[in-house]
Amino acid sequence: MLRCNVIDHLPSYGSLTTLYREFGHDMSNLQKQRVLEVRHWTDTLFSFKATRDPSFRFQNGQFTMMGLEIDGRPLLRAYSLVSANHEENLEFFSIKVANGPLTSRLQHLKVGDEILVGRKPVGTLLLDNLLPGKTLYLLSTGTGLAPFLGVIKDPDVYERYERVVLVHGCRYVAELAYQDLITDELPNNEFFGDMVRDKLVYYPTVTRDQFRNTGRITDLIQSGKLFSDLGLPSFDVLHDRIMLCGSPGMLKDTQKILEDKGFVEGSSSTPGHFVIEKAFVEQ
Ligand SMILES: Cc1cc2nc3c(=O)[nH]c(=O)nc-3n(C[C@H](O)[C@H](O)[C@H](O)COP(=O)(O)OP(=O)(O)OC[C@H]3O[C@@H](n4cnc5c(N)ncnc54)[C@H](O)[C@@H]3O)c2cc1C
Repeated sequence: MLRCNVIDHLPSYGSLTTLYREFGHDMSNLQKQRVLEVRHWTDTLFSFKATRDPSFRFQNGQFTMMGLEIDGRPLLRAYSLVSANHEENLEFFSIKVANGPLTSRLQHLKVGDEILVGRKPVGTLLLDNLLPGKTLYLLSTGTGLAPFLGVIKDPDVYERYERVVLVHGCRYVAELAYQDLITDELPNNEFFGDMVRDKLVYYPTVTRDQFRNTGRITDLIQSGKLFSDLGLPSFDVLHDRIMLCGSPGMLKDTQKILEDKGFVEGSSSTPGHFVIEKAFVEQ
């Protein structure tokens, strides 16, 4: 049986901790899949598609453990699923950390290479963890976009909400990955494109380039610019529901803004007004 080296990488919170522990002991929870396609967006970002075992089931917005077998041992990290649960293949959107144990290797993936995928997806960015509302805000920075790509491909999200606002904050314009998917492919989807055209609003913003929208998400919320640009009222606990996925700093600041306005965090046991997932853990 393969041994696993993820325990030394154990972030201390909720479902992820449980997941890492499970993988530390039970390697039968891994499936081997083949890389089908690789796309490099920038020097620090890439994405890839891989085969999906038909037995691998997940909910849109979830993450799972994913990685490589190195010297006979799995090297795994938490990864959000970019692919929706109705898609045939798996897709991941990844950072390239220069000295990162996994991504210093993962960034060299080629078509035909093998990856390991955990059989037990988990996560809090689920529609069922939110109370009913009118507008769903998906607020992301960097690779925090990944789970929301699964969410915006879910026809159910358009059935439940009158409007879905996807905000993606990055440093540079080149890091605004998946713009074609969001602004062209999904609105032209033969099954639910009409709902996407009608309800999905995309708001990309950058902090270090000139662009049509600039500034940090938290500043845009607090100044009210996000809402005036969108032509919407500012956050209202009665009607707005929010999913957050980004850097630890962005999550902390946004959570405070929301809680000050009376928003309550939701979970699988008690749905609330907002839910949070870390896009990564600081070491
Ligand atoms: C719930 C969850 C979901 C995740 N989903 C994704 C995902 O979809 N795509 C993805 O690329 N990563 C994701 N991550 C981060 C991922 O688990 C790894 O940290 C990342 O792949 C780097 O692995 P590594 O071994 O190369 O370096 P690590 O040792 O894991 O990380 C080294 C350092 O790099 C920085 N870092 C790590 N990941 C990121 C990131 N994504 N963006 C910016 N800085 C980062 C942090 O400062 C970290 O301390 C997720 C993490 C969590 C907790």
